Amino acid sequence: MIKKVVKFGGSSLASARQFKKAANIVLSEKSRRYVVPSAPGKRNDSDEKVTDLLYQCYDLAAEGGAYKKVLNRIKERFAEIIDGLELNMNLAYEFDRIEENFLNKAGRDYAASRGEYLNGMIMAQFLGYEFIDAADVVFFQENGVFDSERTNVELGERLANVERAVIPGFYGSMPDGRVKTFSRGGSDVTGSIVARAIHADMYENWTDVSGFLVADPRIVPDPQVIETITYSELRELAYMGASVLHEDAIFPVRREGIPINIRNTNRPKDKGTLIVESTCRKARYTITGIAGKKGFCSVNIEKAMMNAEVGFCRKVLSVFEKYGISIEHMPSGIDTMTVFVHQSDFEEFEQSVIAGIHRAVEPDLVEMESDLALIAVVGRGMKAVRGTAGRIFSALAHAHVNVKMIDQGSSERNIIIGVKDADFEAAIRAIYDIFVTMEL
Ligand code: ASP
Repeated sequence: MIKKVVKFGGSSLASARQFKKAANIVLSEKSRRYVVPSAPGKRNDSDEKVTDLLYQCYDLAAEGGAYKKVLNRIKERFAEIIDGLELNMNLAYEFDRIEENFLNKAGRDYAASRGEYLNGMIMAQFLGYEFIDAADVVFFQENGVFDSERTNVELGERLANVERAVIPGFYGSMPDGRVKTFSRGGSDVTGSIVARAIHADMYENWTDVSGFLVADPRIVPDPQVIETITYSELRELAYMGASVLHEDAIFPVRREGIPINIRNTNRPKDKGTLIVESTCRKARYTITGIAGKKGFCSVNIEKAMMNAEVGFCRKVLSVFEKYGISIEHMPSGIDTMTVFVHQSDFEEFEQSVIAGIHRAVEPDLVEMESDLALIAVVGRGMKAVRGTAGRIFSALAHAHVNVKMIDQGSSERNIIIGVKDADFEAAIRAIYDIFVTMEL
């Protein structure tokens, strides 16, 4: 029988109404056997996530402040869900224990994890599934790093004879039993870990969008959904700011060849986006997606005969390394090299780095330009098609966007373009139009 792990994000479980949608999704397919819930998220734009309320409440309680008001708001969020689902369930005992542990300073991670813990208990009762506390099956090492192998073995054994279960997302335990969480949005990671441990056929990640979009909807109105994307393409887009899934959620399932399907709880009929290791499926368009970021700065170094000087690049890069500045891109010419860095990381060390470069390689000229944006045009389809770069640049020329930098990786999976921050949106719209609107 096919086995699926289904993870629901905070907005999919923010109220009784959303909970019912999620439960209907689980019950509509027998294969949906393991459920990983987040804590209740925002019900609307001005609402607060229960996880944020828990942090606030804990900080107040631990400092001896007035925490009761926030605690009551958290209690009300869960009461609304329990009442709306007409469950015969009382969390008074759980809340007493939580309050006591807050006052005993059980830790911020413990506090934050209670949203998932309680939501898991509610979900288990509503579905009639077994509840398994993540603290008993997800483990961290002494140094705080996730213990993937121990977790995989113990979780696999624990679930081997459990037909259907709810395992709360986001947390696990340290060797001494203390609760420890992943970073924010970490329920995605738990879902992936569970999928690996049970050798799932599919990891469904239910959220409030119908998958990854080809471009950011704040820039391109109503963009198309990406039907299939490979893990590598996803990495490139995620690195450039496209975010739907926690980055660490990819690794556990990727190594087992388990696909992830991003789905929309509010539109369960939509197919969403399928994330796979590799595929023969032709992408609908030449490109899979476009993403980008603003706020870069370029340092341009010139020196006659640079190309003949062995170790030149290393010496320049070691100056950046010395100040802990990460390098984003490094296009080079014959007697020039340019280093792209994040403006915000660089500003503080700017003058020291320039002086360091002068000392290290005695350049003829060092110039800087700020307020630059990088745009990644990503797609496995580009390799097989001629003229992709040509189309990008003619689209940008038509949109009056000046291209400051071009970088095509040897994978031929992406082309990175540098433009002025002010041209960022126009450039993305122009690229979207030429590849998607025109190919529709
Ligand atoms: N509730 C946690 C957060 O808000 C984890 C999650 O939702 O994935 O970050």
